[in-house]
Parts: sequence; C-alpha cells; structure tokens
Amino acid sequence: MYAMTYLKAKSVKEAADFLAAHPEAKLLSGGMTLIPTLKQRLARPSHVVDIGQIAELKGIEAKGGKLVIGAGTKHYEVASSKTVAKAIPALAELASVIGDPQVRNMGTMGGAVANNDPAADYPAAVLGLNATVVTTKRSIPADQYFKGLFATDLNDGEIIVRFEFPLPKAAAYSKFPHPASGYAMAGVFIADTGSGVRVAVTGAGPGVFRWKEAEAALGKAMKPEALEGLALDSGDFNEDIHATRAYRENLVRVMAKRAVEKFAKGKKASRK
Ligand SMILES: Cc1cc2nc3c(=O)[nH]c(=O)nc-3n(C[C@H](O)[C@H](O)[C@H](O)COP(=O)(O)OP(=O)(O)OC[C@H]3O[C@@H](n4cnc5c(N)ncnc54)[C@H](O)[C@@H]3O)c2cc1C
Repeated sequence: MYAMTYLKAKSVKEAADFLAAHPEAKLLSGGMTLIPTLKQRLARPSHVVDIGQIAELKGIEAKGGKLVIGAGTKHYEVASSKTVAKAIPALAELASVIGDPQVRNMGTMGGAVANNDPAADYPAAVLGLNATVVTTKRSIPADQYFKGLFATDLNDGEIIVRFEFPLPKAAAYSKFPHPASGYAMAGVFIADTGSGVRVAVTGAGPGVFRWKEAEAALGKAMKPEALEGLALDSGDFNEDIHATRAYRENLVRVMAKRAVEKFAKGKKASRK
C-alpha cells in the first residue's frame, strides 16, 4: 500500500500541475474511500496528491440564487451550516445521515461525488437539484455528470472545485440506510425546481438515476398516492447479500412516498 509518493498541494493549480506531471497519481481529499481502497490493494497510484488543506476548495455561500459549496467541504460542515439549512434544508439533512460521525468529519462532498458510489447520498442531491459540477476545466450539468457504477464525466487530471445548487422551491430526501455502514440501500431525493419536479434515486441501481414516471406524476399532484402503481424499471437493480432486486424496488417506492410526505411538511414549515 505505502510504495507511493505523498505530495501536499497548496493550491488547486498546484494540485492540477501535480496530476499533469504524474498521470498515475490520485487525489486525496477526506481519504474515507481512497485509504480503504489503498489498504485493500484495489488501487496502486504512483503519487497521492493531498488536496485536503486547500482553502479555495472549502466554504459554503448562498449567492445569485444559488448555494455554492466547495468540493473540500466536509459532510459535517454541510450538515451543520445555517446557510445550507436556510437555502436547502433537505441537503443539510442528507449530509447529517451520511455514514457515522467519523466519516462526516473527514469525508468531503467533492470526494463523494467524484467517487460516485452507487449507494452514496450526495449524488441523489446533485442530480435531484440539477446542480452544476464545476471543475478545473469546465462546468458539468448533473444530467451529464453521472455515468453509472463509480463512473463520471470527469477526465483524467480534472479536479472538482465546487458545486452550484440552484435554490429549489422545496426539496426532501428519504433513505433506508444499510444498518452497518449507513450507505443507502435506497434513497430518494425529490425537488420542486420551479420549472418541474425532479426525482433522483440512489442505492438501488448501478448508479444514481432519475425516476421520470415519478417526476411526471408528482408534477401533477405532490402526494404519496400519486406514486401508486407507477412503472419503475428495476431490471438492472443491484442484487446482493443485503437485498434482492424486488426488495430494493419496494424500498424505492417506500422511500419515495416518505420523501413526498416530508416534502409536504417542509413546505408547510417554511410558509410559517
Ligand atoms: C464506514 C463508512 C461509511 C460510509 N457511509 C456513507 C454513507 O452512508 N453515505 C455516503 O454517501 N457515503 C458514505 N461513505 C463514503 C464517504 O461519504 C466518503 O467521504 C466519500 O465517499 C469520499 O469522500 P472523501 O472526501 O473521503 O474522498 P477520498 O477518499 O479522499 O477520495 C475518493 C475519490 O475521489 C477522488 N477525489 C477526491 N476529491 C476530488 C476532487 N475534488 N475532484 C476530483 N476527484 C476527487 C479521489 O482521488 C478518490 O478517487 C462512507 C464511508 C465509510 C468509510
């Protein structure tokens, strides 16, 4: 595991330069995924480029009708931010149910979205809220960013710098966590963007996806009954020691209903 060179980047530019000079290098942000991967010999990078202390990757700001969150911002910072709680409370709630306190104090939004674990929580918010992933090279719309199992639109040497979330009218997230890790067995994020309803599902399939039938139904009536009997293509859903495909499909339906119930409560609360 340890036969590699450790490089600590002081700026995003320096990190990008390190990656350009060492094509076999890997970025290290919170280390919550990379370190276990190295320990299990699933990756053998020539260099590890530590971006964990770069100030320009950190921070949370609401500006110009958007919530902007630096890629190096830790889960607990999102969960406890008053700015996030005011702008998109569902995002703060989602961050608060990632893993355990240790993971939330080390893991970062950029690391989680770059890794794109099929059971991770943030991809559901990024896709559900129609966020933009801003990198050192370009701005990537969420609909283009996620490419399935641990796959994204990121190219070699590209670093996520920040996320830009348009402010929704309302949003809600509900997940059924794996009892040991906290990862989503199924998680559903619902957002009323102002120009339509978006429903993003994580944990069930090989990657986060939009449930278009639910978006159409909830766009007409935002109530749990609107989801009854809706088509849900579960042909490629995960089947493993934790759950069958049919069980995961049922979980998606139940989590979607719970998210709709939360959505209604959230709306009432914000009108008071
Ligand atoms: C016990 C445990 C429980 C967990 N439970 C959950 C859970 O319930 N829900 C959930 O969503 N996640 C969960 N996680 C994952 C956790 O959220 C991690 O923080 C996350 O997956 C990776 O973030 P990181 O900052 O630690 O990234 P790292 O481990 O440092 O990096 C992960 C990958 O992303 C790349 N990377 C990092 N930053 C960037 C960047 N800015 N630009 C481009 N590439 C980058 C790295 O090179 C690496 O390939 C859990 C992890 C553990 C260990």
